[in-house]
Amino acid sequence: MSSAAATTAISTDSPEARRYNRIRRRLGIADFILGLVLLVVLLATGWSGTLRDLTYRAAFQNYTLAVFLYVLMLMGAGKVLGLGLDFYGFRLEHRFQLSNQRLRAWVWDEIKGLLVGVVLAAIVTELLYFIIREVPQHWWLIAWAVFLGLFVLLAQLAPVILFPIFYKFEPLQNEELKSRLVRLSEQAGTRVRGVYQWRLSEKSKKANAALTGLGNTRRIILADTLLENYSADEIEAVLAHELGHHVHRHILKSITVQAAITFVGFWAANEVLQYAIEHSNMFTGLADFANLPLLALVSTVLSLLVLPALNAYSRYNERQADRYAFRSLSSVEPFISAMNKLADQNLANARLPDSWSGSSTPIRRFPVA
Ligand SMILES: [Zn+2]
Repeated sequence: MSSAAATTAISTDSPEARRYNRIRRRLGIADFILGLVLLVVLLATGWSGTLRDLTYRAAFQNYTLAVFLYVLMLMGAGKVLGLGLDFYGFRLEHRFQLSNQRLRAWVWDEIKGLLVGVVLAAIVTELLYFIIREVPQHWWLIAWAVFLGLFVLLAQLAPVILFPIFYKFEPLQNEELKSRLVRLSEQAGTRVRGVYQWRLSEKSKKANAALTGLGNTRRIILADTLLENYSADEIEAVLAHELGHHVHRHILKSITVQAAITFVGFWAANEVLQYAIEHSNMFTGLADFANLPLLALVSTVLSLLVLPALNAYSRYNERQADRYAFRSLSSVEPFISAMNKLADQNLANARLPDSWSGSSTPIRRFPVA
């Protein structure tokens, strides 16, 4: 994009959209800092060790149960500390007229989110300390390989297991649109196993679409908010962008990049942990799960370090997907009008709240040439 076009693109953002995005960004930073502070305090005060002793006693000295209780306490503490920010986020969506969700429904979603988080965190942590106890010499290498497998499995299962916990999906009724989208997917060389209507309107006024899942869970999901207000040409244009991600193998590339980063992360975690065990008496050893906040801290710091590069990489991918959309559509008009409508409706770079479900529509304003 030329600099003139980029300037136009930025200047066409409404002041309201800029304000909303600025607050969202600050909210994200505050949330991140809060998490960091919690980890540092747990380690610096020795509370992590106290918590470990407490959970050991509560678990009648059963290691596996104690690890579970420890994760439960940690997640609970994090949730309680972050509750104010979460609620502020809920209010923010209403303030900018982006949400339909009632408080009661939001609370229920938060509870479900916490439960899902606890289950996933418990599985990961139990596996981690199991590997540490079984192969203390090369735990970080084995754990890296196992987690990579889990990551791919989760990307595959998310559309059928995770998403339905929060949203209702049903097969798209509009046969004509469905066959158009399936044809477009086939042209892109992807075999889609279904087109689904995503009932987003119950919660949000935003619109979105995504190509998610892997292998036999590969599917197109279209928000009902998109289906109601966008023409078939515009919906096709949105999907063409998503298919651009597929054609350029962005999911595979992203998994490879994640694999490289987590490889460094596990290696660094092992180094830091060995150092902490030798030079301080904070932990009794590798298998002492009181060191969990230290592992989390290492991965948090690392993710912060690679964030600018990852963002740049993601922007590069988005442009590549856009170029594919331009090439595969007979006209660029529906694409531009769809992206501008999305920018108005969503005020933001709305995405599915995950990085492993595949891609979702980028929402930003296009300069109208
Ligand atoms: Zn995209």
